[in-house]
Amino acid sequence: MGSHLCDALLAGGHTVLCADNLLTGRMANLEHLLDESRFEFVERDVCQPFDPGEVDYVFHFASPASPVDYLRHGIETLQVGSAGAINCLEIAKKYSAKFLLASTSECYGDPLEHPQKESYWGHVNPVGPRSVYDEAKRFAEAATMAYHRTYQVDTRIVRIFNTYGPRLKLDDGRVISNFMKQALRGEPLTVYGDGLQTRSFCYVSDEIAGIMALAQSDEHLPVNIGNPSEFTMLECAQLVLDVTGSQSELRFEALPQDDPKQRRPDIAKARELLEWEPKIDFRTGLQLSLEYFRGAVASSQ
Ligand code: UDP
Repeated sequence: MGSHLCDALLAGGHTVLCADNLLTGRMANLEHLLDESRFEFVERDVCQPFDPGEVDYVFHFASPASPVDYLRHGIETLQVGSAGAINCLEIAKKYSAKFLLASTSECYGDPLEHPQKESYWGHVNPVGPRSVYDEAKRFAEAATMAYHRTYQVDTRIVRIFNTYGPRLKLDDGRVISNFMKQALRGEPLTVYGDGLQTRSFCYVSDEIAGIMALAQSDEHLPVNIGNPSEFTMLECAQLVLDVTGSQSELRFEALPQDDPKQRRPDIAKARELLEWEPKIDFRTGLQLSLEYFRGAVASSQ
């Protein structure tokens, strides 16, 4: 997502300083930007205070985001959502810059309200395995609102729902990267639980367009950006098989603890406020991602 955000900002004529400690990100996603004079990359952990010099806008997107990644890097996930968020907010405060926090549908936990509106406070297990991510992001949202209320920092919060597309790490453990990789290798698709849990998948260009629209708005409270078309994981597996033309079978595996049973954004607020809605349906988005995944699978062998 970060590299796609850099692309969109550069296309908008901006100059970008990108900071990442590459804990879960990959330099390969930025290589096409390294000759761009308006782009600079610094390898840095935003959990350590730093001063980038005068900036107009701070986007705090740093965090492991795939369940496999944040379960492996629990402490780092807690740190980047807390110390990292505070450091980024301090930069925005110092330079009177605007600020946008990448938050998440995980703030809703395993939701009892469906679809999820921004006004829903969520159903999060504060001590479960996913709490390292959910509570870090909820803290980051609280910190963002506190800097807005206390110091009048001009903040925004996007709640990002499941997003996919080119540049997803092949082994990040998310469902789309797993299914695409498994289908293209002719291996069984690993469906967790009975596969009836749902997610709503947004193609990355739609997600970035929504975030860019929010970045230019004056809304301080959270806004859901995602695609409201909802699929079970069984339907997702079937679509991946169709799009890849794969003959792979399904293999059912244990459902991870606290895996949300359903997730779908209510995007009425984004529609009204930003005049934004996703344009790319799931099948089309998977087709648009196919070439990337073919290349990634080929170079992983
Ligand atoms: N999932 C699955 N097989 C996989 C990976 C994930 O069935 O190989 C399921 C997972 O249990 C969850 C959904 O797909 O219900 C989405 O998981 P993902 O890790 O992509 O993201 P989440 O929405 O849980 O953060």
